[in-house]
Amino acid sequence: MPLLADVAVPVPLSQAFTYEVPAALAGEVRPGARVLCEFHRRKLLGVVLAVSERTAAIDPSKIKPLAALVDARPALPAELLAFLQELAAYYFAPIGEVLRLALPAIEREQVRALKAQGELGGVLDLGRAKQVGGRKVAYASATDVVEEPGTLRGQAAAVLALLRANGEQPVARIEERFGNARSALKKLAERNLVALDEREPPRDPFFRRAEERDVPPELNAAQAEAAARIDAALAALAPSGGGEHPASTHQEPRPAGQEPRPSAFLLFGVTGSGKTEVYLRAIKSCLDRGRGALVMVPEIALTPQLVARFRARFGDELAVLHSGLSDADRHAMWASLHVGKVRVAIGARSALFAPVPDLGLILVDEEHDGSFKQEEGVRYHARDMALLRAHRAGAVCVLGSATPSIESVALVRRGKLAELRLPDRAHREASLPEVSLVDLRRFRAGPSGDPLISLPLHRALEKTLAAKEQAILFLNRRGFAPSVVCGSCGTLTTCDACSVALTYHRGRRRDMRPPSPGGEPAPAAPLDERPEGGRLRCHYCDYAGPLPDRCGACGARNLLLEGLGTERLEATIAGSFPEARVARLDRDVAGKDRSQAILARMREGKIDILVGTQMVTKGHDLPNVTLVGVVNADAALGLPDFRAAERGFQLLVQVAGRAGRRDRPGRVLIQTRNPEHPAIAFAAAHDVPGFLEREIREREEVGYPPATRLALLRIDAVDESVGRGAAAKLAAHARTCPEGAARRVEVLGPSAAPIARLRGRYRFRVLLRARDRGPLRGALAALTGLIRDGLDRNARVIIDVDPVAML
Ligand code: ADP
Ligand code: ZN
Repeated sequence: MPLLADVAVPVPLSQAFTYEVPAALAGEVRPGARVLCEFHRRKLLGVVLAVSERTAAIDPSKIKPLAALVDARPALPAELLAFLQELAAYYFAPIGEVLRLALPAIEREQVRALKAQGELGGVLDLGRAKQVGGRKVAYASATDVVEEPGTLRGQAAAVLALLRANGEQPVARIEERFGNARSALKKLAERNLVALDEREPPRDPFFRRAEERDVPPELNAAQAEAAARIDAALAALAPSGGGEHPASTHQEPRPAGQEPRPSAFLLFGVTGSGKTEVYLRAIKSCLDRGRGALVMVPEIALTPQLVARFRARFGDELAVLHSGLSDADRHAMWASLHVGKVRVAIGARSALFAPVPDLGLILVDEEHDGSFKQEEGVRYHARDMALLRAHRAGAVCVLGSATPSIESVALVRRGKLAELRLPDRAHREASLPEVSLVDLRRFRAGPSGDPLISLPLHRALEKTLAAKEQAILFLNRRGFAPSVVCGSCGTLTTCDACSVALTYHRGRRRDMRPPSPGGEPAPAAPLDERPEGGRLRCHYCDYAGPLPDRCGACGARNLLLEGLGTERLEATIAGSFPEARVARLDRDVAGKDRSQAILARMREGKIDILVGTQMVTKGHDLPNVTLVGVVNADAALGLPDFRAAERGFQLLVQVAGRAGRRDRPGRVLIQTRNPEHPAIAFAAAHDVPGFLEREIREREEVGYPPATRLALLRIDAVDESVGRGAAAKLAAHARTCPEGAARRVEVLGPSAAPIARLRGRYRFRVLLRARDRGPLRGALAALTGLIRDGLDRNARVIIDVDPVAML
């Protein structure tokens, strides 16, 4: 019988393909290894899913041999490979695309080796596999050798002390501190006191500054309880899969009738309650047991502080995975995990696929955050999949948040997650800030003239500045003015390719002097006062163009800039408080390292008022911030999305949580026209459980998750009728498939999406809803054939399981 390999190739097809393993490679081709294989006359990089000796199910003469083996050691460890296959099945996603999420870059040496074998002719298509390799960096670390007392002097002694205190350091970093570092290190190395090592460097902003080791604080009672329960769960894990480090093997026998220990937790701690400290203890406990840990955070660029705290505790033996990495750095991080040199990975969504060795713990910080859902390509939810990966790997999973998602709370109620609570702020003097609502229907504009900077907000800012404290102003709109409207006919300027309003961005101007107080008339600036150099931008596609000088509909020269965006807020605040240092944090200013730089300036007290979007709400621990102003709380609440209230609530609680985190009491002003809205009222009362309770009941009543399960079929086409036709066909098919006909799956639609046109494509959708997952999967399975070859080829269909973005 021939030895056959099932290989997934990076094409959008769900099945694997069968190849013969040539005799020369038998025994070497293992699951998880990358191979080159011929596919429709091209050579593609594929991943072996399984190898077995068997008779082929298809005509043996059609089976081609594998062209080459790329990895001697499988690129994807068994645990990860199995997880990826399960993820692909869960989301009805092509296995080839899913594997690509986890695949490392292919090393230069490997390419060179393959070239030498003559395997890289003109036909090779490495797909998106990237090539990396090259520059090496020197590292120094102290050995276990002890010097004769008194034999080291000067810089050699100081360098050795530094290495012993802080662990391994790049030589370049030591040189920054010690002029004679090179010769000192040479001396130390000759005496075997120091080991020097060359390797791929983390050339990463997160590692630029050396981090002093910290001293772990004493946990408060709630933290200690949470840490102990996680520790107990880690202790109960099955022994690790045989790394060099022996895991603690003594598994206590479970008394009969006792529930198994929980291995998944929801850490529900108010803002500033010290969740991070609990994470650090959990990781320590995991490492002590010889297993690796994975930490996922929403946006790593916004969490330099968190990374710094991890480094302060664990040193640089940490893989930080983020989108700003060069391919070489990413690969270095990947490789160090893969070979087990580094056992802790931290990163955003995509870190879910990190090859952490002997995975024992997954932490998901700010688990409620929407960014854990990938909204393109494979539409996975990293939080849900973290639970799955941990469960399959026999690891512990901890989801942490001050505002847990309704989904996670539902899992607690169903006994799938154990809840750990941190009810108070960690700093002894800190308490939750006092929140007041400013009813915008009653309060007029303050001295700035802008109705969105009410008198109470203006006064509160004055007080904060006078006390030499800092303020954060949160506004959910980027740009200068969120819409441009004709003053004569009322027509809104919209994007040509999308059915959304264009936003006016003033951009960086050469003249950065703030306008004089009141100089920015509100609510609409007449066109002749508009600043030079601004652009109209679509926030959904890449469109950017000049501001027209007349209305496209009626031709009147009377276009008005309406509404308030962060750019304009920054300018207005700077104008009203000329003595204050004002800065802005939003996606427009937050280039590569800029957001870190802005947050660093904020922490150093070089900014008095920070204006920004969601970016200012995320987990920052800024001790001197005593005022948080929510400029317009209503902006997020009116969206046609069943999660609008939940999301609005989370934003409000999170941004409020930035105030008063240390000894100085904090204050929060929430401006709204809708003070009775539950999201606002519960946020103002710091009543997270109350809101969750109400929201869960509400979802139950209207039949939305977590009471039900959803799958969204997203259909789009350049031609409106093509899209509509495909959507209708899918809906009809869904209704007549067994699950649909038996009414175990409810089919809603077809309907036009709330944003009916995007990037020139008309969008439709069909929503499938069911009480249970089984029937929903059955219906989706019944639709895949139709999607693959029963629809107009100009229509694109995406299956979105557990959809998050409903627009
Ligand atoms: P969270 O992640 O829950 O918002 P953090 O972990 O950022 O909270 O903790 C808030 C602040 O409290 C931080 O400055 C942290 O250093 C401090 N902190 C945490 N635990 C303790 C403790 N046990 N004793 C003293 N300070 C603590
Ligand atoms: Zn657009």
